[in-house]
Amino acid sequence: MTAKTEHYDIVIIGLGPVGATLANILGQYNISTLILDQETSAYHLPRAVAFDDEVMRIFQSIGLAEQMAEIAEIGGNAHFVDGKDKIILSWIRPQKLSENNHSVSYRFHQPDLEEVLRNGLKRFSSVTIRWSSQVISLSQSKNDATLEYTDIISNKNYTINTSYIIGCDGARSLTRNYINSNVEDFGFREPWLVVDLVLKVPSNDSSRESFHYCGLDRSASSAFVGFKRKRWEFRLKSDDIPEEITKPKNVWKLLERWIGPNEASIERAAVYTFESIIARQWHTGRILIAGDAAHQTPPFMGQGMCAGIRDVANLGWKLERIIKRNISRDLLRTYQTERYPHVKEFIELTIQMGEIINKTKTAIVAGNVTNPEDGPQSLGQLKPKLGPGPSSGNIKFRGHLFPQPRLEGGELLDDLIGSRSALILLANFQAQLSEQIIKVIMEMDIAVIVDASTKLEDWFNNKTSAALIRPDRYIAGTATSETELNELIHMHKTGIC
Ligand SMILES: Cc1cc2nc3c(=O)[nH]c(=O)nc-3n(C[C@H](O)[C@H](O)[C@H](O)COP(=O)(O)OP(=O)(O)OC[C@H]3O[C@@H](n4cnc5c(N)ncnc54)[C@H](O)[C@@H]3O)c2cc1C
Repeated sequence: MTAKTEHYDIVIIGLGPVGATLANILGQYNISTLILDQETSAYHLPRAVAFDDEVMRIFQSIGLAEQMAEIAEIGGNAHFVDGKDKIILSWIRPQKLSENNHSVSYRFHQPDLEEVLRNGLKRFSSVTIRWSSQVISLSQSKNDATLEYTDIISNKNYTINTSYIIGCDGARSLTRNYINSNVEDFGFREPWLVVDLVLKVPSNDSSRESFHYCGLDRSASSAFVGFKRKRWEFRLKSDDIPEEITKPKNVWKLLERWIGPNEASIERAAVYTFESIIARQWHTGRILIAGDAAHQTPPFMGQGMCAGIRDVANLGWKLERIIKRNISRDLLRTYQTERYPHVKEFIELTIQMGEIINKTKTAIVAGNVTNPEDGPQSLGQLKPKLGPGPSSGNIKFRGHLFPQPRLEGGELLDDLIGSRSALILLANFQAQLSEQIIKVIMEMDIAVIVDASTKLEDWFNNKTSAALIRPDRYIAGTATSETELNELIHMHKTGIC
């Protein structure tokens, strides 16, 4: 028997980290949201162990940065070492705060992170979670979308009517299948054994470093994930049998060079196939995908989940514009055009790292690296720009993340912006504006920030005089004249920022 059809503005399929982040964003906008997940409760084993400063900034935007800082530790450098433990490349993770005003590397236990996200959802009466709910079919018309799910406890089927379906349903996404997207495959596909250990005595590893062992008979990585746990990963050889290699005695044999059962217990040992793909189509009509459903990357840069969280930061405010402000849903087209090239850069660099780890590449990575004649190379932070999106005004800085300085009064910039867009003006420039344009700006539903803090002034210095920042903190456009500022104002008024 089928029950009465309910309606939600948005249905999210999957309450992993990506779906949970999106639900927090939509909750802040008071958009009625249903999240369905086929599991009976949250997945309790870790996969991701690292997130970066931009992702912490997204957590800040949903009011959860402090809770995340409590469950995370700041990570150290990652070194690539040869067979004699000589460092050949270091990925430098500075300990000082980045221009996003967060650390560039946080280490954590994924179930803790997901719990913070789920607890965050308790703040929003507009968000409903249903576990044990397996989505089995999707359909859409010009005006709405429909999905059917099975309550796997009662074995009853239910139909939900909605304006948009967002598939955050992971690597084997049903939603991606519905969209019928094939994938761009970057060619890296390898099975690796992933081992999580719980330390019997908390470590005092003040370096917090991680290592990729490139010169061993079997490539391996060890990652700092805090003081209570440790992660190792080992590349499988062609004759390895997953059911055998995951047996504790075989796992300890692989680990014996570094650690033994007196010092730690195995939390889990599982084989994952690391893939490197991006779906060619993320969106059809009212149905979209995000996170692992849209792209997958090997974990050597710790960027799979981060990329998914960036996806939904990009998508969340666009959905708000469409649902709450009646902006044309053409805006959704910019979701994939902006995000695809961004995630692609991370995947390509990750593959280069994988090639170094596997010694299939002797040359050092391209990109943001130092190039000393002798001694190890060092790799900096990758900061790709968004692909083409909505734009007008002076688009010189469009698609770059705006920094987050502390303002004169001591507040962090984003805490003043909240979930809105922001217009940031250089004080000298504001002083020259006509009364007419000042009046228009003051009437806009936008954070207007004029601040003499040196970091803000430094960013503007000789570059531009005003910046329109979107709710995901990317620059929509900049202005150096009142004419260009008018274009930015128009852009905001038409709702595309
Ligand atoms: C070994 C390893 C290490 C990693 N390390 C890092 C790292 O350090 N940093 C990083 O950023 N990323 C890392 N990643 C990647 C990261 O774990 C994933 O990118 C991230 O978990 C994906 O999140 P998601 O929400 O998109 O999907 P998932 O976490 O897979 O969640 C999908 C959810 O959808 C639900 N679902 C699926 N189908 C249906 C359906 N039909 N109906 C209802 N529900 C459904 C599932 O039950 C699940 O809860 C790592 C991955 C691995 C394997």
